[in-house]
Amino acid sequence: MKELQPVSSRASVADVEYRSRPSVIAATVLHTGQGVAILDPGPSASLATLLDKLAKAGISLSDIRAVLLTHIHLDHAGATGTLVRKNPAIRVVVHQRGAPHLADPTKLLKSAARLYGDDLHSLWGEVLPVPESNLQVVAGGERLALGELALEVAYTPGHASHHVSYFDPKDGIAYVGDAAGIRISGRPFIFAPTPPPDIDLELWEETLRKLGAWNASMFVLTHFGPSTDTEEHLELFRERLHSWSAEVKRSLAEAGSDAEKAARFAKGVLDELRGAAAAVEIERYSVSAAPELCWYGLARYWRKKEAA
Ligand SMILES: [Zn+2]
Repeated sequence: MKELQPVSSRASVADVEYRSRPSVIAATVLHTGQGVAILDPGPSASLATLLDKLAKAGISLSDIRAVLLTHIHLDHAGATGTLVRKNPAIRVVVHQRGAPHLADPTKLLKSAARLYGDDLHSLWGEVLPVPESNLQVVAGGERLALGELALEVAYTPGHASHHVSYFDPKDGIAYVGDAAGIRISGRPFIFAPTPPPDIDLELWEETLRKLGAWNASMFVLTHFGPSTDTEEHLELFRERLHSWSAEVKRSLAEAGSDAEKAARFAKGVLDELRGAAAAVEIERYSVSAAPELCWYGLARYWRKKEAA
């Protein structure tokens, strides 16, 4: 496999081979004409693989000028502090709501520990703070100048309250993190990453409208890689999000504990996936958002809504 998979003349995807699994987490390399920017470098558990692939493509640590984050979840941003420690000249672009948790990851790690328990460190690796002086804080609506690149930044919450997406109007490519779901290498099935604690379907709907308004010729997803019919992609994703959400809402009225409901939901999701994807791919879909966690995220959304 080539070290970097080009998606345009100035952007490539690096498979960080998270836990030795291909096609789970993609880091994007943007060639700016003055070094590179890495969009969502992934967790530090797979940083060595990323750096190795960059080196084989002739890109050294000192060539990395910027890290652009879609959001600060560990599967996207966990390696950021380690990268900045290795090269203190890197500027890190992040939404204003995510920035404080990069500077001091204590709360972020607490929240992640609720999802992953004692496995947190072995799953994702170290999470080092990013010095505030390295942060370039955005709110959405900015135009980001990176060498020869000019990217539009949009605030795209729904999956995370601090999620942003980036659009290169010259290439027509939108880098959407988790805002347009999980779709492994263009397969038909799109999975809705809805883990706790931020899921908000109204905000997400607004996000999908924004992504659609870009009329992108390609989405690049962190999980995993390019998806080229963006209109169809958004339609399929919207359907999945709504069907899962309705399913979870129904389950809340049924008998049983949360754990039982989450397990039933997960079984249904895996059955659905089995009809659409090869066995080896099913795991790839689940690594970054386990179906049980997706139940909890949507249940939390509905309960908050009912309480309000
Ligand atoms: Zn993710």
